[in-house]
Amino acid sequence: MFDPEIETLPWREQVRLDDQFYRQQIEYLLARSRFYRRKLEAAGFATADKIGGLAAIAELPLTEKSEIRANCSAADPMGTHVAAPSSEIVRIYSTSGTTGTPSYIPLTAGDLDNWVTTSARSYSASGIRPGDVIVSTYNAGPFVAGAALAAFDRMGLCHIPVGTGNTERLMAAIRLLRPAAAVMTPSYAVYLGEWAAERDFDLRGSSVRRLLVAGEPGGGEPKFRARLEEAWGAKVTEAMGIGDIGVSLWGECEEQCGMHLGARGFVHAELIDPETAAPIALEDGARGELVLTHLQHRAAPMLRFRTRDHVEMWTSTCRCGRTAPRVRCIGRTDDLLIVRGVNVFPSAIRDVVNEFAPAVSGVILVRPIATGPRQEPPLPVSVELGKDSEGGPGLAANIEKRIREVLVVSTRIEVLPWGSLQRSEYKSKLVQRVE
Ligand SMILES: [Zn+2]
Repeated sequence: MFDPEIETLPWREQVRLDDQFYRQQIEYLLARSRFYRRKLEAAGFATADKIGGLAAIAELPLTEKSEIRANCSAADPMGTHVAAPSSEIVRIYSTSGTTGTPSYIPLTAGDLDNWVTTSARSYSASGIRPGDVIVSTYNAGPFVAGAALAAFDRMGLCHIPVGTGNTERLMAAIRLLRPAAAVMTPSYAVYLGEWAAERDFDLRGSSVRRLLVAGEPGGGEPKFRARLEEAWGAKVTEAMGIGDIGVSLWGECEEQCGMHLGARGFVHAELIDPETAAPIALEDGARGELVLTHLQHRAAPMLRFRTRDHVEMWTSTCRCGRTAPRVRCIGRTDDLLIVRGVNVFPSAIRDVVNEFAPAVSGVILVRPIATGPRQEPPLPVSVELGKDSEGGPGLAANIEKRIREVLVVSTRIEVLPWGSLQRSEYKSKLVQRVE
């Protein structure tokens, strides 16, 4: 463990500490953040006394990403929620954003240090040890993933940054420098598995024994994970963060039963019903949208930030000894489809389709017809055949039947030859909407 004393602290002790941090954070927000002062006042919470402690946090309004964007202007390019004076800002990251305008994420030296600590805890959970060699494939540049890379130094690893987009160079580094671990998106890990198979590159026989995946859901889907582990001959664990809150907030341990909150003490996690925003109790098997609150942040702290990530959560003790709750990401709100009242995420469809490997390649594309989440059945899904697979007559019908059994959703499976769907060296698109 990176911080054994902290990571094994009984959770109720953590909650007690977090309550103190939270009360200080609230005082700080009311004093320093124009955005939150206004927002909380408008909701009837003008003073710290009115707001109270963590036990009452669910009474406060949620923060949507769109509100943060709306508070950015030429006068306040980073937003009116920024709470630290510009003299204290040491780094400004960007998120790529879907609307074209980037959103900026400023950090103080202390914020950055907490991010690196968080990330070091989360990646250490994978079992990687000081002195191990790790190859990374993130073109972090302006993006928050850069702070995750700094965690590798903090952990005492030998880090070989290779970046995305140059598979030859990555494979040469694996062959010649013999890293024990590699970090990448799950999509790129799949792509590399196929790349190696086509070239008789012995990926399974390579030095890589741990594959750390992050950046999108997938690494925790059981069938998807099993296929990755098979292709690489390596143990797959995942990590997850969100730009506005922090990098690698969550990191999975060697037990592979969900990602622990590496950001404990820095971030408070809640679950809500994504439709009604009602709080959902944290317990084993609870499902909902993650809502995160900074506890010790200075530059641009967030209060009850809606992540749009839908997760399953576990709070029971993990065999690894870490006491922090664990999550597995099921999907993003933007990808959610509601087929005759049943919620389904494309990643769940992919995991069922993967049961049919090697007849299928595992690459799928969901093609909803209606705009918005609500769809009439059957939901069209393109499924790609595995390499050298003929498919066989009943394949599409069998996949449809299996999806109906597992997900209670009616689909229309279109089977495509191997190689017809686009591979990604970064993140996969699982849904293609009609223009
Ligand atoms: Zn664990």
